[in-house]
Amino acid sequence: MPANAWLAYGLGDVVSMRQMIDGGDAPEERKRLERQKLDALLGYCESTTCRHQTVLRYFGEEHPGNCNECDNCLEPVDTWNATQAAQMALSCVYRTGQRFGAGHLTDVLTGKTTERVEKFNHQQLSTFGIGKELSPAQWSSVYRQLVTSGLLEADIEAYGGLKLAAAARPVLRGEQEVWLRRDADPAKRKAQRAERNAQRKEKPREPFAGAGEDRLWLALKAKRTSLAREQGVPPYVIFHDSTLLEILNQRPASLDELGRISGVGQSKLARYGDEFLKVIEDAANQH
Ligand SMILES: [Zn+2]
Repeated sequence: MPANAWLAYGLGDVVSMRQMIDGGDAPEERKRLERQKLDALLGYCESTTCRHQTVLRYFGEEHPGNCNECDNCLEPVDTWNATQAAQMALSCVYRTGQRFGAGHLTDVLTGKTTERVEKFNHQQLSTFGIGKELSPAQWSSVYRQLVTSGLLEADIEAYGGLKLAAAARPVLRGEQEVWLRRDADPAKRKAQRAERNAQRKEKPREPFAGAGEDRLWLALKAKRTSLAREQGVPPYVIFHDSTLLEILNQRPASLDELGRISGVGQSKLARYGDEFLKVIEDAANQH
């Protein structure tokens, strides 16, 4: 069934997950496995290609072409050559002593004089204010991606402060380019989403092939809703969507047939069987 899925994550999650793994007392082999799994998940989060394809590939299946439903298909992700920004971000980590988090580092780069900046005299650093061309949100995106791509590491000792990973060296020496995904502007994204939802409302999706099927589906759902209301329970307590869909596909003509559908136990059959059979019969007659 068409459904909406939300994936929300940020740098804080990456840092705390890495810390949890590194700081735990699992054997090294186990930690290595956990790190690989986390990296795979982060790779999925930061991916710029069709997410449906990625998920199916994980389960050994193929999706023919792009799904045109996931965020990456609906709003193709732009990537940008972030080599210079990455160099600034990394050298700011280095100049501040490799023990601060992305928030403070962003303040230093954008030249914001905070209490903390003054306390550590960071307004004197060569990296202070060199990153004014990017907004704090953009720097936060840069830092998140530098961590997920393994150029920066969270230091458990320094409460999640960021430190340079070995992989950062070639970038700092100008031997390696860094390309990052350009995160959509939150305001623009919200507007696009609203527009898309409005379009969807105008033209509701038909989940089923024939109009008759669609009508029966709606009738089955209406019956379920009214029974649920009568009994003051959520609809899924009457029948799960999967059971209802099975009823739609099989169109049982008798209690016996209905009872063979998974999710229809003896007591549900006795309580609701006749009513649902009537819905199917009525739909058939209308057809
Ligand atoms: Zn897709």
